[in-house]
This record gives sequence, C-alpha cells and structure tokens, in this order.
Amino acid sequence: MLKVSDRIAAMELSPTLAMSQKSREMKAQGIDVINLSVGEPDFDTPDHIKKAAQKAIDDNYSHYSPVPGFLELRQAVVNKLKRENGLDYTTDQIVVSNGAKQSIANAMMSIVNKGDEVIIPSPFWVSYSEIVKLAEGTSVFIPTSIEQDFKITPDQLEKAITSKTKAFLFSSPSNPTGSLYSKEELRALADVFAKYPDIVIMSDEIYEHINYVGSHESMAQFDDMKDRVVVINGVSKGYAMTGWRIGYIAAPLWIAKACGKLQGQMTSGASSIAQMASVAALDGDQSSVVSMRTAFKKRRDLALLQLKEIPGFEIREPKGAFYLFPQVSQLFGKSNGSVSINNATDLSLYLLETANVATVTGEAFGAPECLRLSYATSEEQMAEAIRRIKSAIENLK
Ligand code: PMP
Ligand code: GLU
Repeated sequence: MLKVSDRIAAMELSPTLAMSQKSREMKAQGIDVINLSVGEPDFDTPDHIKKAAQKAIDDNYSHYSPVPGFLELRQAVVNKLKRENGLDYTTDQIVVSNGAKQSIANAMMSIVNKGDEVIIPSPFWVSYSEIVKLAEGTSVFIPTSIEQDFKITPDQLEKAITSKTKAFLFSSPSNPTGSLYSKEELRALADVFAKYPDIVIMSDEIYEHINYVGSHESMAQFDDMKDRVVVINGVSKGYAMTGWRIGYIAAPLWIAKACGKLQGQMTSGASSIAQMASVAALDGDQSSVVSMRTAFKKRRDLALLQLKEIPGFEIREPKGAFYLFPQVSQLFGKSNGSVSINNATDLSLYLLETANVATVTGEAFGAPECLRLSYATSEEQMAEAIRRIKSAIENLK
C-alpha cells in the first residue's frame, strides 16, 4: 500500500500556519476576514535591509553559501551577541539556518536519541512538540497557569527531570503567552540545572526585541550554564523579515558542528541574498527595531483595554512578543442557539465563522482553556476585530 511514513503520519499540521491558510482562502472567496492567527509583524522590512539584498544580487551573491552561513553574517551575529547580550562567542559556534524553526530542528536532531525526554514548559510554541517527535524524543510538559503568569517554578522543573532528560526547550519572551523570565527567575532555574550537568538548555530568544519591560535576559549569561545552552534567534520578528528565512544558533562547538553536519546533508547554507540582508539588519541602524516595538506596545495597550470588556475573557498583561492569550473557559458550555462552545477550538471556529476573525485555539499550544490573538496588525484592524469578537460572544447564552 502506498502511504506516508509513520513519522509524518504521527505529525500534526502546524495549526498557526493552517489557520492562516484558512483565513487566506476565505479572503480569496471575498470574505472580509481579519487575521489574528499567524504571528508575524505586519511591517515591511526596513529599506536599508532591502537595499543590501538588492546589492547582493547585483554583486552576484548567487552561489552556494558556506553551510553554517557566510563568515560575514556569523561575525555580525557574534558582534550582536556581544553588543546586545554581553555574550562571547566565536564564529564557529554560530550556525545560520532557514529560520529559527530549522535552527530548533537542527539542534533537536543533533542531541536527542530515541526515547530521550525533552522538558517543555506549557503553554508552548506549536512546533516544539512536533520537532521533538521528529527526533524520536518524548516531550515532557510542565503545566503552568494564568495565576503563575504561565512561568514554571524551580520546584516544578526539578520534579520533571528524570534520568532520561536530555534537553529543556523554552521561549522567553514566550509565544504564545508573552511572559518573560527575569534574570532572577532564570538563575533559580539554572540552580536546578546545576545539579544535572547532562541537560542541554535550548533557549528560544526569537522575540528578544519585542520586550516591553526592560533588557533581554538569556540563560547563556550564566557562566556555569553557557557551555550547554543553545541560544536560538533570528531576524524574522525583530526586523520584520519572516519571509526571508534566516535564523541562527549560538551553541557549544560540538552542537554547532553537529548542526552544520546535518544541515550540509539536508538543506545546505541558507539563501545567500537573505544572509547579506541579515548582515545589514544586525550591523545597521537599529531604529526600526525600536519603532516597531513602540508600535507593538501601543497596540498591546489598546487591545488589552478593549479585550477586558469582553465577558468571559480573563487576561493579564503580556510583557513581550505580540500575542494576547486570554483564558476563555468561562464561555465553555454556552451556545448561540445553533452552535455550542465546549472548548477553545469550538470558540476559535465560531469566531472565524460568525465574526470572520481568525485566532488560534489554545489547544495548539497545550492550553485548551485559552485562545491566542496576534496583535501584529494595525490598530484599526485590531479594534474592528475586537468589536466583532465582542458582539459574537454577547450572542452566547
Ligand atoms: N520560535 C518561536 C517561539 C516562534 O514563534 C517562531 C515563529 N514562527 C519561531 C521560533 C520560528 O521563527 P522563524 O523560523 O521565522 O525564524
Ligand atoms: N511564530 C508564528 C506563530 O506562532 C509563525 C507561524 C509559525 O511558524 O508557526 O504564529
């Protein structure tokens, strides 16, 4: 019988991308859908970055690039890590990939053996668990609640660790919750890891620049942790470059080498043009990063005020990224007469069909009591979306 591998059969479709595709299809049918599903900046890539890409084309950057990335870009990453994070790396510890998504997959495939456990605080970004599955590992989720600001405690971490634990994977700022771990909170987790020297910490820092409360804190800042931390980052979110597909890791040499080996057989070096654009992003004027962050913060504040008016939405202020993650379980059991809402997936579909607003069910992130809305959209669109959501919810009895 012709059929796909068990590996692919066991894998979920990316629900963020699937919801975005669905709203694109509805738009193509002429339906006025507001898409709050996929998380990507709505801004255009800044001009100086686009110009660098145009120059790279003119300068014939048309050949294969080195597998781990052009030295120029890896040096720009090293400089960025020093300048912004106070971290010392050498260029051979940097591997550039086709987006942070590939960086995570590379690192996971490089360290996890069949049956190894990977601890993931939940709610978590949708692709984490699927990437662990692909590497034949087992995800061990640590549940968190809105009351604890969706952050794990050292005690919870300690309880989740077993002799099979190989890695810990988390994002701060977090997708989907927008929570941030402070330096003290990271140190408290590091104190637990200090007792377990064989666990690799995968620190997804892709939302680093979208932080509304202060400086970014990385687990790699602690000298006793750094040689087993994989910092994952990229240009997608901070520089409005999601489609350019450039991500990177900064890692201990043995992991960087393994990722390069895998990438050399799977995809080769990332796009040469996009890499040269990323050099301009990291080395160039950073004022667009600041202005985009300021715009996101304004949108968050407005959206929060408006969302608080919606009955049944329990919400706290996210400190980073560009998502709102209300707890909506108070609405479960309600109906508009024809549609019953029994979970967040029902609610997300109800909002898509009756209010024409695309969101993502919390189920996708391991939080079936929540709903994710991206506010990386204009203030007007956001206000209109919330008006529609409110009126659809008011029809539920
Ligand atoms: N990590 C997190 C937490 C994300 O939200 C995303 C965005 N999809 C990524 C990694 C991957 O980003 P990209 O592949 O676009 O660099
Ligand atoms: N990070 C974004 C999101 O969570 C992009 C979509 C994706 O790659 O999953 O919506």
